[in-house]
Amino acid sequence: MITPEDEALLRRAVGLAARAVAQGDAPYGSLLAGPGGEVLAEAHNTVRRDNDISAHPELKLARWAARELDEATAARTTMYTSCQPCGMCAGGIVRSGLGRVVYALSTEQLVELNPASGAWPDVVQDGPALLSEARVPIEDYYRS
Ligand SMILES: [Zn+2]
Repeated sequence: MITPEDEALLRRAVGLAARAVAQGDAPYGSLLAGPGGEVLAEAHNTVRRDNDISAHPELKLARWAARELDEATAARTTMYTSCQPCGMCAGGIVRSGLGRVVYALSTEQLVELNPASGAWPDVVQDGPALLSEARVPIEDYYRS
């Protein structure tokens, strides 16, 4: 359920998306709000400026949360973001331990507005292979 307090923070994330455009980057913005609704960190897309395909605001904030927040605080922290996180960012968010994501536009709505947003090709993945060799570093690492 999205509350009026959520909507206020979501508007701020949409404002960050507009700021990204004003600075020459793609229109995506996000922020983290702590357990009391206080803004902890903000980010916008800097893929062009940084020449970095991973410079999505959601992933930057997930990395920040994993570095700066203890586990209990992260679990009670919410990410507000102008668009539903992509697969790359969703994986980072899960690993960061953040407890909740609130987004404005869904992926489907984004693709409707910009069909190129959904044009990512699948990557061929071949495997599994070399089990007896590949398991050695895994077993060595997790045995101790
Ligand atoms: Zn992303």
